[in-house]
Order: sequence, then C-alpha cells, then structure tokens
Amino acid sequence: MNKLNERPVLIIGGGFSGISAALEITEASSKSVIIVEKNPYIGGRVLQMYKYFPKLCPSFCGFEINLRRIKSADEGRIKFLVSSEIEEVIKIQKNSGKVAIQNGDASAGEKVSSLPADASAGNIRSADAGVNSNNYGNTGDGTNVNDYVNGYKVKIKQKPQYINDNCTICGECAKVCPENRLNDFNYNMDTQKAIYITNISAYPSKFNIDAEVCKFDSCKKCEAACKYSAINLNAKEEIFNIEVESIVVASGWKPYDAEKITNLGFGKYKNVITNVMMERLAADNGPTGGKIIRPSDGKEAKNVAFVQCAGSRNENHLPYCSAICCLASLKQSIYLREKNPESSSTIFYIDIRTPGRYEKFYNRASSDEKTKFVKGIVANIFEDELSGDLFLEAEDILSGKKIKFRADMVVLAAGMVPNRPAIKTGDIKIGYDANGFLFNQNDNLGIFSAGVAKNPADVYSSVQASTGAALSVLQFSANKRG
Ligand SMILES: Cc1cc2nc3c(=O)[nH]c(=O)nc-3n(C[C@H](O)[C@H](O)[C@H](O)COP(=O)(O)OP(=O)(O)OC[C@H]3O[C@@H](n4cnc5c(N)ncnc54)[C@H](O)[C@@H]3O)c2cc1C
Ligand code: SF4
Ligand code: SF4
Repeated sequence: MNKLNERPVLIIGGGFSGISAALEITEASSKSVIIVEKNPYIGGRVLQMYKYFPKLCPSFCGFEINLRRIKSADEGRIKFLVSSEIEEVIKIQKNSGKVAIQNGDASAGEKVSSLPADASAGNIRSADAGVNSNNYGNTGDGTNVNDYVNGYKVKIKQKPQYINDNCTICGECAKVCPENRLNDFNYNMDTQKAIYITNISAYPSKFNIDAEVCKFDSCKKCEAACKYSAINLNAKEEIFNIEVESIVVASGWKPYDAEKITNLGFGKYKNVITNVMMERLAADNGPTGGKIIRPSDGKEAKNVAFVQCAGSRNENHLPYCSAICCLASLKQSIYLREKNPESSSTIFYIDIRTPGRYEKFYNRASSDEKTKFVKGIVANIFEDELSGDLFLEAEDILSGKKIKFRADMVVLAAGMVPNRPAIKTGDIKIGYDANGFLFNQNDNLGIFSAGVAKNPADVYSSVQASTGAALSVLQFSANKRG
C-alpha cells in the first residue's frame, strides 16, 4: 500500500536508467516517485537505437515491458512530467520543523501548480491555474531525522502542453501544418512538421508542437483540423513546487560533438557520419526508411569504415573509454552486412573492448569474412570531391605500414558525454568527477546517480546501477527514520 504521507523520490531523467530506478523503488517499497523528463517522451536515447546488443532486439521491446510495469504500478505511484526540467533544488534542514513550500517565488507570469495526490500513473495533470499551495504528499515534520538532510524542495518548470490526452495520433493536424522543423530524433537528418510525434513508441502517446517554428495565432490550421479538441495553442508554461525525500540523477548522455575532432572531417564531408546517426539510418522508421545510404548522393553504402575511439581515450577530447563504442560499431557492421549484402566493413581500432559475455558478440560480428579489422589510429580523413569518397590515413600497427584506405562512407564511433542538469542548488554541493559523471560521493545528501549519468555503460549495466541507486534510496530513507 502507498503511504500517502510519504514524500516521493525525485528522478531526474526518464531514460532506461530513470525508469528502472523508478520501478525498483516502487516495487520494493511503498514509496512513490516522480520522474522529470526533459524530452516530450520517456525512454531516452535507447529509443533512438535501431536494435540493441547483445540480442539485437528492437529498442521498443524492452521499453514496452517497462511501460507495462509503469502502468500497473500500484496506486499510480510512478508519475512523470515530460518536457520538464528542474529549476531549483533547496535543501530542507534537519529538525527544521514542518516545512511549507513557498510558491510566491515564481517569477511574474509563471503559472504555479501543485501536483494532485490522486494523479494516476502517467503524465501528471497540473491542478487548476493559480493554485498557490503545494499539497503533494507530506510536507515533512522534521522529526525522527538523524544526521542527514531532511529532503528537498524542488521547483520544476514544464513547457506548455499544447496537446492534451484526447490526441489519437491520427496525424490530421500535421497534414495541414505549413511549417517544418528539423527532426532532432533523427539527429537532424530530415525534417517534420511543426506539429509532430517524436517516435513510434512515444509515451505519452500524443503529438507535440515545436514552439520555435509554430506560427500560433496567425495560423491555427491544426486546431481547425483536429476533430478531438486535442489542441490548445494558448497553453502556458507551468511551475510545480514539490517536496521530495531524495533524488536520483539519471540524466544520461549526449554524443560527443564530433566536429571538434577536426582531422576526421565530420561536419565538413557529408559522408562522414557518427554512430548515433548510423542507428537512425538503419532504423526502419528513420530518415531513409532503414536504407543505409550515403548522405551525399543517396547511393547504397557498400564500403564502410568505422573509426573507433572518435574522441574517447584522447586527452584533447574525452580522456575516458566510452565503454560501448566498440560494441556499437560491431553491431552496426552487422546492420550494414544484413541490409546491404554486397557491402564490406572495416573497423579501425586501438583495442577492441568487448568485456565479459560480450566476447560472444565480438565473435559473431568478426566471423563475417567481409568484416575486417585494422589496428591503428586514423590520423586524417580527406574527401575526393568528385565522387564524395573518403580517404583514411592510418598506421596499420600489425603490419607496421602506413595505409591510405578508400571508403564510400565513414562512421565515427563518437563517445558518450554525461548530461549534467543545470540546476540551481544553492548551498548544496553536488559532486561530479572531472569528466562530469556523478559518482556516489553525494550519498549522504540523499542524491544518487544511475546509468550513464554515473559512468559510461551499456543498458544492462545502467539498469544494474539503477537497482543500486534504488537500494541506496531505500537505505537512506530507513536511516532517516533511525
Ligand atoms: C551509438 C550507440 C549505440 C548504443 N547501442 C547500445 C546497444 O545496442 N545496447 C546497449 O546495451 N547499449 C547501447 N548503447 C548505450 C545506451 O545508449 C546507454 O546505456 C543508455 O542510453 C543509458 O540509459 P540512461 O537512461 O542512463 O541514459 P539516456 O538514455 O541518455 O536517458 C537519459 C534521459 O534523461 C533525460 N535528461 C537529460 N538531462 C535532463 C534534465 N536536465 N532534466 C530532465 N531530464 C533530463 C534525457 O532526455 C533522457 O531521456 C549505445 C550507445 C551509443 C552511443
Ligand atoms: S492533435 Fe488532433 S489532429 Fe493532431 S494527431 Fe492528435 S488528435 Fe489527430
Ligand atoms: S498553428 Fe503551428 S502547429 Fe498548428 S498548423 Fe500552424 S504552424 Fe502548424
């Protein structure tokens, strides 16, 4: 049973790690959790993968299992706010007595709402406009606390929700919308209408409006086309002030900006792409309908070079190993060989890192005679302007020779960079390591990390770290009760 007087746990980031932590916490205790997700959908970067290793299942498989668990969570104890970010986190001092959240601090024009305690699992509906008190859960009476902090007041900002749950994703609105936006889900490789759905697995399952390109009052064509009254172009940003017991940071990663590795030509030569782009090219719902073709001329990519450690293990870029790039390139080499049977792939590597049981995956990919390996760092990439082909200059360490390799497309195995939420934290000092990963040094604050926010990792290890974070949350809570 849910103890309604228990304060919830805040989870920052609704990727696989945040969702796993939420499920573990709620399935192992009576606690409730609130996931705050910056995107208009939950699921994180894994949803942008075509398939995921080691089994090469479609990314939505694991996600749908998690979604079913979320929906069946006892008493709707997993709530989430999408298109939202944390603005401010304020420590509640121990023994400070009953703490009421001050809502008067919202800046002019902001709509301040409380989270209704009866919100069912899913996207939280804000309370009536103008409600100026927070009534979510317990305010904390300050008793029975030990040396730890007594929770946090958290201010959350949610972007306007122009589309409501009436949306049936029929798509009639997009048919009449005159404006286009870059499709960021596909790493800007194509465009979509200003009113759009991010991906086939999107949850909440509804369209969104890109406020940066929408013409609002001077257009309103979508409103007229929608038969379900699902669109409100006057929706406003909302502020939620809540109080939580502890925090799990599961804000994941972004790809390293490959343009910074100037010798490898990304951003300069069209046929140099990154590994995350390759995932979308291979995806049946991606910008090319699943065809692995060259961006310059749309020709089938036949001779593809993968450049490992593009940025990673390099003091000038990312000094750490991103842990998954070797596996990702092996996986993408399998995609290529399956989709373009005439193709061959050549992987330039420093070391191939496929630890533990992933050795089997390496054996699977490398047993293909059209998949070759060259041990050597690629020093430079040049383009043949006429053909758009690329020349890679490298030293083949095993033969001791300098080589010049011609490829018709290059995939840079760009590393993972941790997302570091930009939160005002006042007197709380959240500890990050030199690379921006949040290790466990914040445990005594009741702030824990999970997934790639903690260290570069695959999904399996991210989920394990999330289980660890969930256990820490429960221990922290138990210790507070003394
Ligand atoms: C090319 C490539 C291929 C890969 N393929 C595989 C594979 O096949 N198999 C595998 O096991 N692993 C694979 N990985 C690794 C996998 O993507 C990660 O293990 C996984 O994404 C980790 O999940 P996460 O929830 O920690 O992070 P994410 O997936 O990044 O999720 C974090 C979430 O937090 C949100 N967020 C970020 N900042 C904020 C904020 N300030 N406020 C609110 N929300 C925020 C994000 O929008 C996102 O939804 C691959 C990685 C790469 C680079
Ligand atoms: S907003 Fe309306 S028209 Fe657009 S997809 Fe949803 S239900 Fe259909
Ligand atoms: S109001 Fe905006 S989203 Fe709607 S049709 Fe016009 S441009 Fe598109």
